[in-house]
Amino acid sequence: MRLLLVEDDDHVAAALSAILARHGFDVVHARSGEEALQALLPAETAPFGVVLLDLGLPDQDGYEVCGKIRKRGSTPVIMVTARSDVRSRIHGLNLGADDYVVKPYDTGELIARIHAVIRRPTPAGAVVPGDSKLRLGPVHIELPTRQVSVDGSVVQLTRKEFDLLALLAQRPGVVFRREQIISEVWRTSWEGTGRTLEVHVASLRSKLHMPALIETVRGVGYRLVAPAT
Ligand code: CA
Repeated sequence: MRLLLVEDDDHVAAALSAILARHGFDVVHARSGEEALQALLPAETAPFGVVLLDLGLPDQDGYEVCGKIRKRGSTPVIMVTARSDVRSRIHGLNLGADDYVVKPYDTGELIARIHAVIRRPTPAGAVVPGDSKLRLGPVHIELPTRQVSVDGSVVQLTRKEFDLLALLAQRPGVVFRREQIISEVWRTSWEGTGRTLEVHVASLRSKLHMPALIETVRGVGYRLVAPAT
């Protein structure tokens, strides 16, 4: 998914871009409000799935930029700022920001918040970025209805089992680290989750009757092995 990072500090932007790229985001960096608005103009490329907007920009007030982005469409906006007071937060949310993250933030939390705004239902008529259906051999995953079927038979999954499968299935063959999966599916850091992830993986393998679909990468995490079609 394409992500627009609006941040005038190159050091912050470089560090954050690297983390976001590791989480599968295709990051475009804008250093000013004007650059951000230019990047958001309709183009041949896929639309942005989310905008991370620093409020302290050299050319325009970040709030103003947020208002302009909101007038142009429904791309989710997460404001990132050192201003932690409640009035600033409310002002940002009133301008149409989808969330508000205060610096310094934990990157795991930021990733979780990005995923949370992406998952929110889009307004009627809005274009859903990316494909809403994933097909992996006999396994069909419908993201909007959260329905999974194998060879045409619907499989009942719990909420977290679905989230886990959908996460892995979006990038077959790619190894997802344990911490990354727990951060994105359970929206928490991995301490204290015990064997929750292992239990969910075992349950998915069993419910789908495809024990080899999710491969354990010892000491690292998991990956989905696309079955032959
Ligand atoms: Ca700044």
